[in-house]
Amino acid sequence: MNDLLDQTARPVLVLNAGSSSLKYQLLVPETGEVSASGVIERIGEAGSDVADHAAALRTMRATLASDGVDLDAVPLRAVGHRVVHGGPDFSEPVLIDDAVVARIESLSPLAPLHNPAAVTGIEAARGHFAVPHVAVFDTAFFSTLPPEASTYALPRDLAQQHSIRRYGFHGTSHRFVSQATAELLGRPVEELNQIVLHLGNGCSASAIRGGVAIETSMGLTPLQGLVMGTRSGDVDPGLHAFLARQVGLSIDEIDTVLNKQSGLLGLSGVNDFRELAQRVDAGDEAAVLAFDIFVHRLKHYVGAYLAHLGRVDAIVFTAGVGQNSARVRAALADGLEGLGIRVDPERNETGGGCFSNAAVISPEGSPVVVAVVPTNEELAIARQTADLVR
Ligand code: ADP
Repeated sequence: MNDLLDQTARPVLVLNAGSSSLKYQLLVPETGEVSASGVIERIGEAGSDVADHAAALRTMRATLASDGVDLDAVPLRAVGHRVVHGGPDFSEPVLIDDAVVARIESLSPLAPLHNPAAVTGIEAARGHFAVPHVAVFDTAFFSTLPPEASTYALPRDLAQQHSIRRYGFHGTSHRFVSQATAELLGRPVEELNQIVLHLGNGCSASAIRGGVAIETSMGLTPLQGLVMGTRSGDVDPGLHAFLARQVGLSIDEIDTVLNKQSGLLGLSGVNDFRELAQRVDAGDEAAVLAFDIFVHRLKHYVGAYLAHLGRVDAIVFTAGVGQNSARVRAALADGLEGLGIRVDPERNETGGGCFSNAAVISPEGSPVVVAVVPTNEELAIARQTADLVR
């Protein structure tokens, strides 16, 4: 009994290694209590003090120590690593060993920016912490997509040979939010058909039947689907050849335009939704059009998912924009009354429209519940990590 009590008081360290950043959080999965969190940026960049991820971990230790958290004295239970791409290999969290690291590395062609960074972070952390390490994949929740949803209409051999298919991303968030929505509604997740809209810097939508993902808007890479802060989302695939032949852009330049210079930024000059909203209020035409395109594309996916699910119990908004922009939530619902989708203006605006707790924002008795449910990817990763090492 004492062992069990001790075990559940022990924190998990969650690490999210990006190409030039390392986000960390030290938390107890059972209670959600966070004892430390932070981010180290500009790793490996010119003029930065932090040369690589191993150095970043030393910086993290030192920062924590100066905040009064001595990592050597903390009875760490495990380290949970966010890994963006699990490819066709990983459909669940896994305990990390050398073979797993090699497999994650071998998936780098599918996520050239993300997976090498994750591997560097994992290797550095394994050197620092002699506890079990677990990899939690952003793609895993979408490994249940049926073949008709996950398969692109490409030559079979080509697709199979190179593992080209729809993988989906933000899965940890979609899974967490769909379960939290079930708790909010006091109903088993198995009974609910949900559409989850994760709207942050990156944006994705998913259709979830009974807790199982059947569709999502992102694809082989996180570029497909909704309009995002700096990513275009859906474009005509013929655009790539057009940009190469007519504009003379290289593959790398096309990649940069679509990933870093498009979306809200490309349309309006700003990628931060708060600034976009200010410009909309000021009557900036480009900002108004950017907002309208963002909502138009969102409706497009909601409509498609209504058709795929047949019956929808809940439409759920989450992440920075989803939790904080009453304007986006109202705009999505506008004109959908005939489909049973309505947002109560007062509920939507509660607390200035910014939600840090889950809440229903549709009117009482609506056929479709519209809700705001905060995501918490670190907590979700910590819980999955703890489940695996228990
Ligand atoms: P990430 O994908 O980096 O995790 P977040 O989920 O933190 O992103 O979302 C970031 C987005 O949320 C930004 O576009 C930001 O402007 C937007 N956002 C944050 N707070 C607000 C707010 N109060 N109103 C509108 N948008 C907000």
